[in-house]
Amino acid sequence: MPNAAGETGTPAHRRHAVSRPRAGAARGAAPRARPGRAPRSTAPRVGVLSLQGDFERHGVALRELGAEAVRLSLPEHLDGLDALVIPGGESSTMLRLLDATGLRAPVGRCVRTQPVLGTCAGLILLARNGDRLPAPTLGAIDIDAARNAYGRQVHSFTDEVEVAPLGGVVPGVFIRAPRITRVGRGVEVIARWRGEPVGVRQGRAVALAFHPELTSDRRLHAWFLREVAGLPIAAAAEPR
Ligand code: GLN
Repeated sequence: MPNAAGETGTPAHRRHAVSRPRAGAARGAAPRARPGRAPRSTAPRVGVLSLQGDFERHGVALRELGAEAVRLSLPEHLDGLDALVIPGGESSTMLRLLDATGLRAPVGRCVRTQPVLGTCAGLILLARNGDRLPAPTLGAIDIDAARNAYGRQVHSFTDEVEVAPLGGVVPGVFIRAPRITRVGRGVEVIARWRGEPVGVRQGRAVALAFHPELTSDRRLHAWFLREVAGLPIAAAAEPR
């Protein structure tokens, strides 16, 4: 199993990019196609919050599905995105870095207006409430999350998770995963492990307590891109 999501020492915004933001992408700028220029790629542009944590593996999954994975570490990187992914990592660190980078307000707006997928620490950031956090969560999904509620690092495990919209099971990698302790009205439970909710959806916001990006099974990313976000995915990557 890959090492713990979020155990990296260097702040992600000091490391190299998943993929560079589009050159010259200024706020409110540039329509998608300009006369006289070669048409721009139609690949969906999916921002991966890259402050800390396992954003690289989401980039790999997204590219396999034909999307462009855009590293998001500054407010200007949000321009022109079709969807957003908030990866696993350390939710307390990610919340501090959201404030330090000026990303809290624009990412907070983005998770209310754009499709968003949060995994593990990303679930905590999207939840209405988490525990032992240094700052408020983004609150895009009406759930409460109890951090590290499945045990410590050594208790990390992989087990089958039932995913209703896929009509089957996927391998769920749980690493110091949060437990969903309250599911609000209007929130759909989309994934269960031993009957407990481990994946939820509210509108176009999806949160998973586990890490689909750490397996080679791309069906959850594909479902998110196509069914939740309404974006095209590469034909070769059609869900099985
Ligand atoms: N335990 C972490 C937290 O509370 C989440 C772990 C993960 O994202 N793998 O933020």
